[in-house]
Amino acid sequence: MTSRPPAAPMPIEIRNLMRARQHPARAVDCPHCGAHDRRPCFTRTGRRMTDPHPGRVAAWARASACCPTCQVEPTIPCHLDGRELPHNSVHARRYEEAEVTAA
Ligand SMILES: [Zn+2]
Ligand SMILES: [Zn+2]
Repeated sequence: MTSRPPAAPMPIEIRNLMRARQHPARAVDCPHCGAHDRRPCFTRTGRRMTDPHPGRVAAWARASACCPTCQVEPTIPCHLDGRELPHNSVHARRYEEAEVTAA
């Protein structure tokens, strides 16, 4: 009988991935499917989604971070040439800013 090597510890990357499963955007209500109270987003067919709707992520970024691109405070919509971005979207760098804020 040979002794088996001990089970390998879980790689740190996977652990971080599992922790990241609770997306910080869940802190805000989803304007798309109406999910709130940190509940996950649902598809139209009622399936639970791993990632929140893009609109929810945008709403979260808008609510929690300043935008480095257009220099607005949290909760102020992003704008370009004096006009709000369409569909309540935000600049890409605002997502990064929101992730830093949430970390
Ligand atoms: Zn949603
Ligand atoms: Zn912006």
